[in-house]
Amino acid sequence: MTDRIFMSSPDVGQLEEDAVVAAMRSGWIAPLGPDVDAFEREVAERVGVAHGVALSSGTAALHLGLLTLGVGPGTVVVTSTMTFAATTNAIMYTGAEPYFVDADEATGNIDPVLLRQALQQLRAAGETVSAIVPVDLLGKAVDYTNILEIAEEHDVPVLSDAAESLGATHAGRAAGSFGRASIVSFNGNKIMTTSGGGMLLTDDEAIATHVRYLATQARQPVVHYEHTDIGYNYRLSNLLAALGRAQLSRLDEMIDARRRMRELYKQLFSDVDGVEVFGAEGDANDNVWLTSVLVDEATTGWAPSDLAAHLAEDDIESRPLWKPMHLQPVFAGSRGVITGASERLFDRGLTLPSGSALTDVQRARVTTRIASFLGERVA
Ligand SMILES: *Cc1c(COP(=O)(O)O)cnc(C)c1O
Repeated sequence: MTDRIFMSSPDVGQLEEDAVVAAMRSGWIAPLGPDVDAFEREVAERVGVAHGVALSSGTAALHLGLLTLGVGPGTVVVTSTMTFAATTNAIMYTGAEPYFVDADEATGNIDPVLLRQALQQLRAAGETVSAIVPVDLLGKAVDYTNILEIAEEHDVPVLSDAAESLGATHAGRAAGSFGRASIVSFNGNKIMTTSGGGMLLTDDEAIATHVRYLATQARQPVVHYEHTDIGYNYRLSNLLAALGRAQLSRLDEMIDARRRMRELYKQLFSDVDGVEVFGAEGDANDNVWLTSVLVDEATTGWAPSDLAAHLAEDDIESRPLWKPMHLQPVFAGSRGVITGASERLFDRGLTLPSGSALTDVQRARVTTRIASFLGERVA
């Protein structure tokens, strides 16, 4: 078989290799060091906030962000049902209850109308909502103008899950800069990577300080290891921060490469009735992390899984969109405001190879393979 084409593989090369080797030779191995400090400054500067705290994953950033906002047992966190499980898992770690809100079908992001409804219902029932966690799906920022206004009306803090949207903007401001705090992810498949890692971003110094404290085993500032809180070992290592700095310097170039792939898909499907490139409207503000298509089987006569199977025969990876959280067995019986929008996206969506490391040869292999599928179906 030919070489496998993945949906979004890490895009690393000589620059990253040199950065990691230089960090290792500098002696800053265990585990914090100057590259961590510089990486925090550079990411914070890039999104335009005052503080960054580099952590071992985006999930860890969500967990500590929630704890720092006072999220805990007996409270409810309102969040998107259309997301990756990490968002909800972090809420579960705190002992709070996730409350799922359905999507705006055009973007897959949390529907502001439904969010307001959820907050009103919970308030009427006398429940304590400790946070709202909106998710920037596939690199498209949530409508924060609207969401932050609604959050303010109800006096609930927002922790933005920008794990997928570093490099995107909303109303001229960078994703990762909205709400009381935001989190980003540097997992291997994200827009940029530290192989594994994440960061909490905030303008609030007290939040940054507390997250940093919790992430380093909650040590009191005395020599004999005094503890008054349960801590975590959640910091990012200096070697990985060095990798992250090299990646950050290439972020715009990597976004451009993903955008070129999106444009190829737009062309490819432009004349195909019943297929649309998901979220293509207004995507100039996105980081275009992943490109998905939505297939209306009643019009096309074929299902997303048919195209997926055709791609798999040539060793090309594709996947459905995130399966909504309220449909996950582990969250059975969960509460929320559900309209069916995210379920329809899940049924119709297929995510295609979108990574910035794709070579021209690989791009051509993907587009040729899709064209042959479409040709067979039309004939
Ligand atoms: C990837 C992702 C996370 C988790 O980030 P990790 O760094 O993998 O822990 C959280 N939320 C969303 C929406 C993600 O896509």
